[in-house]
Amino acid sequence: MDLYEHQARDLFREHGIVVPRAEVTDSPKEAREIARRTGGRVVVKAQVKTGGRGKAGGVALASDPAAAELAARRILGMDIKGHTVRKVMLAEPVDIENEYYVSYVLDRAAGRFLAIASAEGGMEIEEVAASRPEAVARVHIDPAEGVTSAKAAEIADAAGLPAQTVDVLVRLWQVLVREDALLVEVNPLVRTPKGQIVALDGKVTLDDNARFRQARWGAEEVEHDDPLEAVAAARGLNYVKLDGEVGIIGNGAGLVMSTLDVVAGCGARPANFLDIGGGASAQVMADGLSVILSDPAVKSVFVNVFGGITACDAVADGIVQALDTVRLTKPLVVRLDGNNAARGRAILDDHAHPLVQQATTMDGAADRAAQLADSV
Ligand code: GDP
Ligand code: MN
Repeated sequence: MDLYEHQARDLFREHGIVVPRAEVTDSPKEAREIARRTGGRVVVKAQVKTGGRGKAGGVALASDPAAAELAARRILGMDIKGHTVRKVMLAEPVDIENEYYVSYVLDRAAGRFLAIASAEGGMEIEEVAASRPEAVARVHIDPAEGVTSAKAAEIADAAGLPAQTVDVLVRLWQVLVREDALLVEVNPLVRTPKGQIVALDGKVTLDDNARFRQARWGAEEVEHDDPLEAVAAARGLNYVKLDGEVGIIGNGAGLVMSTLDVVAGCGARPANFLDIGGGASAQVMADGLSVILSDPAVKSVFVNVFGGITACDAVADGIVQALDTVRLTKPLVVRLDGNNAARGRAILDDHAHPLVQQATTMDGAADRAAQLADSV
């Protein structure tokens, strides 16, 4: 789960990193009040889970409370790369002498964390890396050792950051470890004319597998940008909305991933990722089907199951029971293979639902689902 900038800012502050004074609101009138309290001048910043807000017009310097209200009115409701702005953060402006980039990210391939740092912050790091790769330092971190003062000094040195950033680099590592984050990024980290180091922007991605021990992020904190993803999450489904027309249900993340590829190979676009896992009970099947069928873009649904410990006849029973509670409105193509496939197919044949058809191979089923999506 990604955090909003204001949430990342709160975490940074709790770990002793200097951040600008700031407040969040969804109301232009309140933005004016906050600006008044903050001393008049404020930076008005769109709170969306995407970068490049500055370029998109989502960051504005307001010189007085009236200007803050106007800026908030303009930015609230704005669309930034497909994200609607529902809140703005009003921050005390900081004078910038230098802008730096620092981040820690999990490097799965290396089995380590990677510090990425540059004395050329402010712009997008991908652009710096492309045009001036020598300006971006990459230093691996042993997860068991972490970022000690010595390690932080090595990172600062490699990137050409001033010595005052060492303390921030250590604290930022503590944010990552204590908050169970997979990514922490500050861009820009700035030095003020008085030599203070301030985190002006923050991005934090939490490890969802550690949610159980990070109780502060209750369900209300997780704002899904897509309403269907919110419904699916509430039912405990492993669902990701995509922008195609063939709904996908499969058992096992690997199988679902390859199903997406096969459907794309047939010239259609998958409408979602949905892994119903090993159990594939009637309830999970019904929940999955109802989420997928309520996506207006979906024209056909492909259920791809490879029977393993949960045999195909149990999955077929689950599908039949699910069809009792969910009204099928779009054609369903089912491919059952593996353990007890023949018995599973017979159960679906006996049920003889007019919108359900079977295919014996994954490729054949994908083709059929793609055709059906094309013909509706
Ligand atoms: P992003 O575009 O989404 O990465 O949003 P940022 O929070 O990084 O803001 C974009 C840019 O606005 C920064 O790189 C700064 O140059 C500028 N900016 C943001 N806050 C301040 C501030 O307090 N003072 C000054 N002078 N510039 C700021
Ligand atoms: Mn930024």
